[in-house]
Amino acid sequence: MAGDATETTHAIRVDAFGGPEALNWRAVPLAPPGPGEVRVRHTAIGINFIDTYHRSGLYPLTLPTGLGGEAAGVVEALGADVDGWQIGQRIAYLGRQPTDAYSERRNVPAEWLVPLPDAIDDDTGASVLLKGLTAWFLLHECHVVVPGDAILVHAASGGVGQLLTQWAASLGAQVIGIVSSDEKAALAEQNGCHQVLRADPATQAKQVRALTGGAGVRVVYDSVGKDTFFASLDCLAPRGLMVTYGNASGAVPPVAPLELAQRGSLVLTRPVLFDFIADPEVRRAAVATLFERISDGTLSVRVGQRFALADAADAHRALESRATIGATVLVPDA
Ligand code: NDP
Repeated sequence: MAGDATETTHAIRVDAFGGPEALNWRAVPLAPPGPGEVRVRHTAIGINFIDTYHRSGLYPLTLPTGLGGEAAGVVEALGADVDGWQIGQRIAYLGRQPTDAYSERRNVPAEWLVPLPDAIDDDTGASVLLKGLTAWFLLHECHVVVPGDAILVHAASGGVGQLLTQWAASLGAQVIGIVSSDEKAALAEQNGCHQVLRADPATQAKQVRALTGGAGVRVVYDSVGKDTFFASLDCLAPRGLMVTYGNASGAVPPVAPLELAQRGSLVLTRPVLFDFIADPEVRRAAVATLFERISDGTLSVRVGQRFALADAADAHRALESRATIGATVLVPDA
């Protein structure tokens, strides 16, 4: 209730779905944390491509809405019935809705929080939960990658892509990455891609066949969507797995099951991270594994861009024009 608000903070609000110009920076009321909630002051906020889908209405939210599902910060206040968290503690969080991480301060359910180890800085903490857990479920749950698996990774030097490629290479997969620039190709190679192709759906299947002795790959991880869907199917070995997990170029239109039959009994899945971490125990274990892989050096998290929180629209422009590399964070005090 607005009448409960005792303070204000500044946050991004979307009043009508649209382009980056739909992001409005303004003062908003901030109620005291409710039962089971924790007040967090953000130090860094992770940008994810899903934020652009929420902004544009591809994944519609109730308006007006905030944006953003992950951030790092400091616990400022505890609501009733909250145990195990301390004021001043460094944390990161990941949550599905409400989406309000694009803010200076907010209240979040305590169950979303993860304590941040000293070895993980705020930028990394803000940008690694959604992307890192996505890499985890894609490689360990959606398909269990085994040594020798040939896999194709689109947007290999993006926020998710840089983690997916490093992790897959560490599991012994033959990782073929697709990127759009020299700088991104260099990062993909550094991250363990065995071969790196330039984004070009017209030649993709032929090149992938050449790199796999004509066999095709066991799995395609396609986050690009509309522009690459059929080219990706053409890269698969018989009974291969097509994982279409994002829509950076637009949503994939309806597909006839015969398209899968004609290419060799392919399997198609359209997974969503939150369905793989719905169980709190599974989620805790996955976060622990992710943080271990960061601390043992398997995963290096490159934050390639930082924008002031108030300039979130510029960050969206960069992300949607393929100008970003690695992860992107928003900083409240920049
Ligand atoms: P990225 O940092 O990967 O940015 C998107 C990248 O996609 C671009 O840098 C670009 O890489 C590539 N791309 C190809 N075509 C286009 C296009 N037409 N417009 C824009 N970008 C394009 O973003 P994130 O790491 O945040 O997310 C990656 C993908 O993973 C997104 O599709 C997202 O929706 C998906 N995702 C899905 C989840 C799930 O649960 N299903 C969970 C988390 C993320 P390049 O220049 O090299 O082509």
